[in-house]
Amino acid sequence: MIPTKEVFAIDESEIHALIRDGRGGRHELMRILARAREAKRLTLSEIAALLRVEAPQDLAAIFAAARGVKEQVFGKRIVLFAPLYLSNRCANNCLYCGFRRENREAHRRSLSIPDILREAACLFELGYRRVLLVAGETPGEASLAYLCRAVEAIYRETPMPIVHVNAAPLSVEGFRRLKEAGAGVYQCFQESYHGSTYRRMHPSGPKRDYTWRLSVMDRAMEAGFDDVGMGVLFGLYDYRFEVLSLIAHARHLEQTYGVGPHTVSVPRLQPAPGAALSEAPHPVSDEVFRKIVAVFRLALPYTGVVVSTREGASLRDDVVRMGASQISAGSRTDIGGYADGAARAGTQQFSLSDSRSLDEMVHAVLDAGLLPSLCTACYRTGRTGEHFRRAAESGMLQEHCLVNALLSLAEYLERHGSAESRAVGVQRIAAALENVSDEALRRRLIDRLDRVRQGEADLHQ
Ligand code: SAM
Ligand code: SF4
Repeated sequence: MIPTKEVFAIDESEIHALIRDGRGGRHELMRILARAREAKRLTLSEIAALLRVEAPQDLAAIFAAARGVKEQVFGKRIVLFAPLYLSNRCANNCLYCGFRRENREAHRRSLSIPDILREAACLFELGYRRVLLVAGETPGEASLAYLCRAVEAIYRETPMPIVHVNAAPLSVEGFRRLKEAGAGVYQCFQESYHGSTYRRMHPSGPKRDYTWRLSVMDRAMEAGFDDVGMGVLFGLYDYRFEVLSLIAHARHLEQTYGVGPHTVSVPRLQPAPGAALSEAPHPVSDEVFRKIVAVFRLALPYTGVVVSTREGASLRDDVVRMGASQISAGSRTDIGGYADGAARAGTQQFSLSDSRSLDEMVHAVLDAGLLPSLCTACYRTGRTGEHFRRAAESGMLQEHCLVNALLSLAEYLERHGSAESRAVGVQRIAAALENVSDEALRRRLIDRLDRVRQGEADLHQ
C-alpha cells in the first residue's frame, strides 16, 4: 500500500495549552538558550517558554542568542530584494488589504508583459538581482498563464537572475507549471492559523477556504518547489498562537518532505487605503516584534527571516543585527511604480514605513557592520531546498557565501553605488580580504575592488 502523507492541521487547544503553561523561569530560559545556540531543534513547549519572556534582561538574553545563531549560520550577510507588483485585481475581500474586491476607491490595473519587463529592467538597472512578483487573486486559467508568462518573460528578456513569486495558492498542476516557468521561491502567508479569526478576516472569495490555504505548501512541494516561503500577518490574532502554529507547520514540512521553509516572513499589519480594518485587533509592539524575529531565528536556525519595508527604518536596522537575514529595499506596492517613478494613485496595497532606496539600504547595512548581499550563486548553481539546507548545516555557507556576497557587493558598487556607499563598501571589502584563504577567489575580489576604485577615481577626474 502506498503510504499516505499526513494531512497537516492545527490543534488549537494544544497551542492554547502551550501558551497557558506557566513553567519557565530564568534557569529554564538559560537551558533553552544553550540548546538554541547549538542550533538544536527546540520543542514547541520550549518555544512557548521563549515567547512568554517579558523581563528586559531575559529579552536581552534571547536577542543575544539570536544574534549568535544568525552569525553562526548566515554570517554577516543580509540579502536584499524588491517586490514587483503585477496586478491589484482581486476576487477576495481580506478585511486588511487595499486590493480587496469591495474597495471601490481602488483603481484596478494589471501590468502588461511589456510593462512587467520595464519594471524588471528598471530594478536591474538600480542594482537588484532578485525580484518577488506579487499579485492579487483572480481565479482561473488566464491568471495562472499570466503569472507563468511574466516569470518566463523576465528571464528571457531581462538580465534579472532570480524571480520569486508571492501569489494565491494553486493546485499541484498549477504549481508544476509555475515551477517549469522558472519561479524560484514560492511564497504564501497563512495570515492567521486561528480558524475563526481567519474566517472573519476573509469573508468571501476563494481565500475564505482555510484548509485550501493551510495545505498550499504541501501542494507546492509535491509539485517540485523545494523552496517555499511561509508567513503570518501579525496583528490579526495572538502573536504567540501564530508563531507556535507556523513553527508546527514548518516541522510538518521538514518531516514530510525532508526540508523546511526556505524563508519565514513577518509582515505586521499596516494601514491600507480602502481596507475595512482600520487597526490591528491584536497589535504587536516593536519590542514584541523584535522577540518574534529572534524566536524564529532560534526555532528555525537555517530558515531565512524576511523583514519588509512595512517596518520603520530604525526597527529594521535593529532586527537585521539579531535575526533577519533578508530585507526588501526601495519597495513600491503600487502597480507600475518603479518605471513610472511617480506613485500610481489608487493602486497601493498598504502604507510603507521605510522608504530608503536600495543604495541607502546598502549603506545602512554596511554601517551596521553587516554585509549587503545581491548574490545569486545558490540559484545559478541549483543549491536550493535540501542542498541549501545541508550546505547551511555544514557551515559551508559561511566561507563560500562570504566570498560570493563580497563579489556581488563589489559588482553593485562598481555599477550602481553612490559615492557614499562606495567609500564604505570599498573599506569593508578590503578588510574582509584577510579572511579569504582561497588564492583564486582572493584574486577575483582584488580585481573587482580595483575596478570599483578605478570607477571612483574616474568620477573625481
Ligand atoms: N494575493 C495573494 C495573497 O493574498 O496571498 C498574494 C499577494 S498579497 C498582495 C501579499 C501579502 O500582503 C498578504 O499575504 C498579506 O499578508 C500582506 N498584506 C495584505 N494587506 C496588508 C496590510 N494592510 N499590511 C501588511 N501586510 C498586508
Ligand atoms: Fe487579495 Fe491578497 Fe489583498 Fe487578500 S491580501 S485582498 S487575496 S491581494
